Amino acid sequence: MRLEDNITEVKGIGEKTAATFSKVGVNCIADLIRYYPRSYKIYEQPVSVNSISEGDRAAVFCKIVSGVAVSRGRRFTIVTLSAADDTGSIKMLWFNMPFLRNVLHKGESYVFVGSIKIVGSSRVMEMPEYYTQFNYQKMLSTMQPVYPLISGLTNNMVTKALKEVSWLIDSLPDWLNDDIRREYNVIGLGEALKRVHFPKNREELGEAIERLAFDEFLHFIIDVSKIKENNIKLINGHKVSEEALSRMAGFEAGLGFKLTEGQKAAVDDIAADMSSDHVMNRLIQGDVGSGKTVVAAEALYLAAVSGYQGAMMVPTEVLAEQHFNELTKLFKPYKLKVGLLTGSLAAKDRRLIYERLKNGEIDIVVGTHALITEKVEYKNLGLVITDEQHRFGVKQREKLGLKGDMPHVLIMSATPIPRTLAIILYADMDISVIKELPAGRKRIKNCVVGTDYRPSAYKFIRNEVANGHQAYVICPMVEESESVDAENVVNYADELAAALGSSVRVKYLHGRMKEQEKLEVMNSFLNHETDVLVSTTVIEVGINNPNATVMMIENAERFGLAQLHQLRGRVGRGDAQSYCIFINVKKSDESVKRLKVLEDSNDGFYIAAEDLKLRGPGEFFGIRQSGDIAFRVADIYSHADILRRAQEAAIKYGGLLGNEQ
Ligand code: ADP
Ligand code: MG
Repeated sequence: MRLEDNITEVKGIGEKTAATFSKVGVNCIADLIRYYPRSYKIYEQPVSVNSISEGDRAAVFCKIVSGVAVSRGRRFTIVTLSAADDTGSIKMLWFNMPFLRNVLHKGESYVFVGSIKIVGSSRVMEMPEYYTQFNYQKMLSTMQPVYPLISGLTNNMVTKALKEVSWLIDSLPDWLNDDIRREYNVIGLGEALKRVHFPKNREELGEAIERLAFDEFLHFIIDVSKIKENNIKLINGHKVSEEALSRMAGFEAGLGFKLTEGQKAAVDDIAADMSSDHVMNRLIQGDVGSGKTVVAAEALYLAAVSGYQGAMMVPTEVLAEQHFNELTKLFKPYKLKVGLLTGSLAAKDRRLIYERLKNGEIDIVVGTHALITEKVEYKNLGLVITDEQHRFGVKQREKLGLKGDMPHVLIMSATPIPRTLAIILYADMDISVIKELPAGRKRIKNCVVGTDYRPSAYKFIRNEVANGHQAYVICPMVEESESVDAENVVNYADELAAALGSSVRVKYLHGRMKEQEKLEVMNSFLNHETDVLVSTTVIEVGINNPNATVMMIENAERFGLAQLHQLRGRVGRGDAQSYCIFINVKKSDESVKRLKVLEDSNDGFYIAAEDLKLRGPGEFFGIRQSGDIAFRVADIYSHADILRRAQEAAIKYGGLLGNEQ
């Protein structure tokens, strides 16, 4: 067995299982070894039933004191039973697991592990895990990896497969030799990967994570430095014209608002770059709502008036459509032609866009990664912008840059990175920061409340809608599975519509819908034909509806703070007072503390820093899945020190290591 072998070589993995693994990107054995857990479960001594409070994750050793009841809900099968120890009783509840009826029986004792909810006056554990006392003893105080799963792929399957290849992990070649490892105080690669999948304790795991983070940073910095070498002193073939520069004031006058100081400075930087002898390579950093789009629009205007095409790449189709509409409106008076290119475009329309990009009829094109597919050719691409850049890797960024004849590059990001770190991560770029929000914005009012506040929240939403405003409701998550969450969104929207009454128009949005459907719903919301949008987190990035004034987030405790900050950033984009309601369902001490950070502050930098202080046990991975540069293990905040070490290593050994990546 070798690293590059197909995973069907692993004992116990047949074609069918391999096909499932393939869906999560695991094709060969090396992929399997790099399939990192999402988090770890830590199993602790069972406690007595009367000692647990709402929101705790706890283990209890109980006897089943009732029969096992199965009932059919509207969309779920529900299994319930009562269990008790000497101190009290507790109800257990599972969704869609009817077979449990044949597994669990009255009179038997198990250790149940799960989170506690208080419903009325009784304690309930939803979807608890159950173990015989003997099996539980074996797991006590161990850390069990929890892998990202999809339908058909169980945690057990991943763990078993990894056990089969663990001997291979030991003998993994390490691109960092002993000396370098000692110098930067990191453990061996094989050892690190072994500990990630089979950790003994938190300390050992911590060292493993550090090593993997170090590698990620080092790879990244070496990649970026290569781009930098290529970019250095590129002579500019796309200088903007004097005419374009002189028309900027007129363009700004047509915006309908005055640019903030930060926006002005960013525009000045861009104009200076684009009229210099060198190619622009600039990052615009500004918190959600700081008005980055219009800065991008000015750059596009400069390019188009100077006779060059501009392209703007965004991470989702919904966002592409929104930018397309905004830019079309903005550029109409100047007779500039804007095009839209996304993956779901009909073949016929797509061909037409290709043609118009090639013959130069289109001045400005907005799109998803479809913009960098092989087929797209440009007449004269002079400017490439990526919005919400953290969603794209360095390689993708480079690819779009290679499309034209050395176009200017502009990148926009809302990720609040301290300047010292930004300089390392964006070593190849110049940076402009937009610090302030547009004048006249009112500070978003926040409240963190329990589920009992729901009726009041609905009433509040009804009022805002009656006053002509709109609202978002981020739906509770049932589990980390798109299909169940999607179903849940539909359910929730039904119930919400009933609660709000027929005068309020409610629609829903989730990731499982077809792109076309998503666009229709989104447009209906943006055009105010929908008052309340119930959604999963698909609306997280970039969406701009200044008329929306309420963001209500169910199960807020389940999201990362950075993600919640992004979600909240969907409101407070106009002049009206906006509100964010965080529903804290679990109310554990930890979630109360975390949400308090958001309640107290609307500042992305502050939130990012606090987020890291409040990390829970077992949360080593994926804590900031969103709103960040796409590192899998490394975290720019908590690993800031490792980033600096990697930077040193890159300077000292980058040339040596560059070829071994
Ligand atoms: P983000 O930085 O999050 O991408 P957007 O560019 O979407 O923010 O801008 C948010 C909203 O603020 C938009 O409706 C935009 O028209 C508006 N806006 C941008 N700049 C200003 C400004 N200087 N004054 C008033 N409103 C502005
Ligand atoms: Mg934006």
